[in-house]
Amino acid sequence: MPESSTFARRIIDWFEHNRRDLPWRRTYTPYQVWISEMMLQQTQMDRAVPYFERFVARFPDVHALAAANEEEVLKLWEGLGYYSRARNIARAARIVAESGGEFPRSRAELTALPGIGPYTAGAILSIAYNEDEPAVDANVERVYARVFDIDAPMAEREAKARVRELAAQLLPTGESRIYNQAVMELGALVCTPRAPRCDTCPVSEDCEARRLGIVAQRPVPGRKKDIVPLEVATGVLVRDGRLFVQKRPEGQVWAGLWEFPGGTVEAGETPQQAVVREFDEETGFTVSVREPIAIVRHGYTRFRVTLHCFLLDMADASAEPHLTAATEYRWATPRQLDELAFPAGHRKLMDLMRGDIRFTHLFRI
Ligand code: SF4
Repeated sequence: MPESSTFARRIIDWFEHNRRDLPWRRTYTPYQVWISEMMLQQTQMDRAVPYFERFVARFPDVHALAAANEEEVLKLWEGLGYYSRARNIARAARIVAESGGEFPRSRAELTALPGIGPYTAGAILSIAYNEDEPAVDANVERVYARVFDIDAPMAEREAKARVRELAAQLLPTGESRIYNQAVMELGALVCTPRAPRCDTCPVSEDCEARRLGIVAQRPVPGRKKDIVPLEVATGVLVRDGRLFVQKRPEGQVWAGLWEFPGGTVEAGETPQQAVVREFDEETGFTVSVREPIAIVRHGYTRFRVTLHCFLLDMADASAEPHLTAATEYRWATPRQLDELAFPAGHRKLMDLMRGDIRFTHLFRI
């Protein structure tokens, strides 16, 4: 076990010379640290920065976010996925604003807010308030698993407990803001999952996995989650230059987001049959397939989705929908669609339509 103060000092010194200049590292307000951490759970740093800048430009503090309409919050989150996180952020902001606007400063109060788990609480307490609290994300787990040769998968309770214990032991008093970020940054830039740059690592002398020549085997891989292929069909109905979209209900995946109706292709069905059936079930519209638009492939959680997209015709162009899988609907122009938040697959479909000469007339409006 390396001497803890020397180990911490090496990482901190390295961080001071190598840290990335990130917008939330300029002021360290609890609000900004919170938003950045929620986004970084969704995506890589480079991609998170523009999302963060747009978000805090529109909602500069917790009061502005508390007053926001959820639709706008979802729109700014569009493309990050895990939309329940965005909804939790909006709910947590309202709770904080209602109790005066001061961000909580204890682990218990923070974890009582929607969407804030042990990691995010530790990150806010250390990075924003410089409290002596560890913050352990996947980067930190990887660094400690290698330096201390932890020989169990990180998904296992004992391995997680060992990392938490090390993170607490090695934390230099009064320096958690810089130390926690330094270990995360080391994991992100040097001790990377593939091809770690051990030759430039500030703690290579302390690293047990390197000494044993087993860096590639640490962390010990866990059991891979099975990828589930999913065939889904969706359809676009156009009436007077407007497209039919509906809003997903509470309690379901992508709650509050907009979509073109559709659903899973059942066994024995073709995608064309599925889209006709789904429209009937979800809207009461009788539709037929005019032509395929595209096949969009995308993934979410453990699903790999093949989305079959069709242009549809309606039997009765003046029919009113009877919604069974949505809370509201709109006949929206392409420009109005840009104001709404959609799941990634449906946003890709719109992007494809925008570049497709068959729909030029529609997207000129
Ligand atoms: S020496 Fe290599 S494996 Fe060990 S902590 Fe540094 S980068 Fe990671």
